[in-house]
Amino acid sequence: GAVGAPNGGGSAPAASPEFPAAVESARRQFSRLKLLIGGAWVDGGEGAAEDLLDPATGEPLGKVPHACTADLQRALAAAQDGFAVWSRTPAIERRRVLMRAAALIRERQESIACMLTLEQGKPLAEARGEVAGAAEIFEWYAEETRRLYGRVIPARNNTTQQLVVQQPVGPVAAFTPWNFPALTPARKIAGALAAGCSCIIKPAEETPGTAIELARACMDAGLPAGVLNMVFGVPSEISEFLIRAPQIRKITFTGSIAVGKHLAALAAQHGLKRCTMELGGHAPVLVFDDASVEQAAQACAAFKFRNAGQVCIAPSRFYVQRGAYERFVEVFTRTAAALRLGAGTDASTTMGPLANDRRLAAMAGFVEDAAARGGRVLTGGARAEGPGFFWQPTVLAELLDEAKAMREETFGPVAPIARFDTLEEALLRANSLPYGLAAYAFSSSAATMMALSAGLEAGMVGINSFAVSLAEAPFGGIKESGYGSEGGVEGLGAYLVTKFVAQASL
Ligand code: NAD
Repeated sequence: GAVGAPNGGGSAPAASPEFPAAVESARRQFSRLKLLIGGAWVDGGEGAAEDLLDPATGEPLGKVPHACTADLQRALAAAQDGFAVWSRTPAIERRRVLMRAAALIRERQESIACMLTLEQGKPLAEARGEVAGAAEIFEWYAEETRRLYGRVIPARNNTTQQLVVQQPVGPVAAFTPWNFPALTPARKIAGALAAGCSCIIKPAEETPGTAIELARACMDAGLPAGVLNMVFGVPSEISEFLIRAPQIRKITFTGSIAVGKHLAALAAQHGLKRCTMELGGHAPVLVFDDASVEQAAQACAAFKFRNAGQVCIAPSRFYVQRGAYERFVEVFTRTAAALRLGAGTDASTTMGPLANDRRLAAMAGFVEDAAARGGRVLTGGARAEGPGFFWQPTVLAELLDEAKAMREETFGPVAPIARFDTLEEALLRANSLPYGLAAYAFSSSAATMMALSAGLEAGMVGINSFAVSLAEAPFGGIKESGYGSEGGVEGLGAYLVTKFVAQASL
């Protein structure tokens, strides 16, 4: 059907025969996690570091170096010098470097995917798709540098020219989370670099290895020193320091709503800096009686539990019309219960661990609240036995809208399902929360589809489809899910400022 892979990752290659060898060699890469400052791979100046854990075992994989204040100062100076060089580099040359970086990411897909799975937990097939998706984002932005057009506005007399030009905004500070360690940094790095900006990125300390490999591909592709810098440390300290710094002209953040509000306020206070805020979501799914209910239920379960539900655009609260409810719940629950929980490096695994133990506590909170309100746990509902941060795929039925799982982003493998009667009622309930990232619906009625595509309050709407995250399409939210877009021409625009030039000959 039209239901597609939401991250446009392309098809993943079959598992390589030397699969365990690839995993073991990726594991060794974690002994050399570094910061990238001014073109050099370095340890933190004060020697501080934190443990990186394998979420499937809870065992350490390596040490993540922390940047000290002097390191951040050097990164700022490097980004400023890098901007002077890169913003004057012709677009056609920027394209060449980004295309070469994309080719290197594709070449190294297997080893990067193994690192991604080891540090983040998702099944290797998902990691391979994500790395291919990251390469595709580099390619798309590379091509788009050719179309950084301005325009000519008809002048009011014959001795004047009126031009509109687009220029890179300046050095960018980027902050990315741990759920898509390749895709999210790729969006920010490739977007900034395509526009002619330099960048200091602080990827999540929980998934540094994948981001480092992307940066390595950029450097190996010939990116000049200082254009891309990568640091790790205490997130709140690094973000505050960089946002305050006069050199930084743009902030781009993906993460939780609370942190996004804090960073946007800092950016306003210190230089009224431009922001792109890609924050949390709690995507509603409306399933109508006239939908292909069985197909919808299977697709919903597949996308809900992808990356163990730790996806900001995951379908995450389900409203099913009364006539379809029983059938939907039955197929959805069966599909969820059939998932195979395990380490992402195990070829038979279809759902990996959660990224950290904070998420386990959060899942317990949703299930306890549902039970206290008379909800039914149809499958799962508990942590899985053994080491690692595993939570069973969980389906909660008969939930009222007041239940915590219906109101708050679950960001994990807990799926709450409720009933509805009419379109008007469903739309009202779908739009009732402060989130506005993604929304989905399943129906075969053209009238219903039109009403929903117009009426759903979200930055991305999928109708009979989950394919809303593509390199060529804008990705972003409204309401408290944030502002600005990544991807599409809008994604490049996020790193550009518009200048109007009136030029007269006297
Ligand atoms: P969190 O808010 O503590 O962290 C989310 C990310 O933001 C992490 O990568 C973290 O390093 C970073 N971060 C935290 N404080 C920061 C600061 N002051 N400055 C800069 N970066 C900062 O939440 P968590 O427990 O790691 O994750 C759970 C929640 O985060 C989820 O409920 C979800 O809402 C949100 N989240 C959203 C996305 C997304 O794609 N929008 C991705 C990951 C997490």
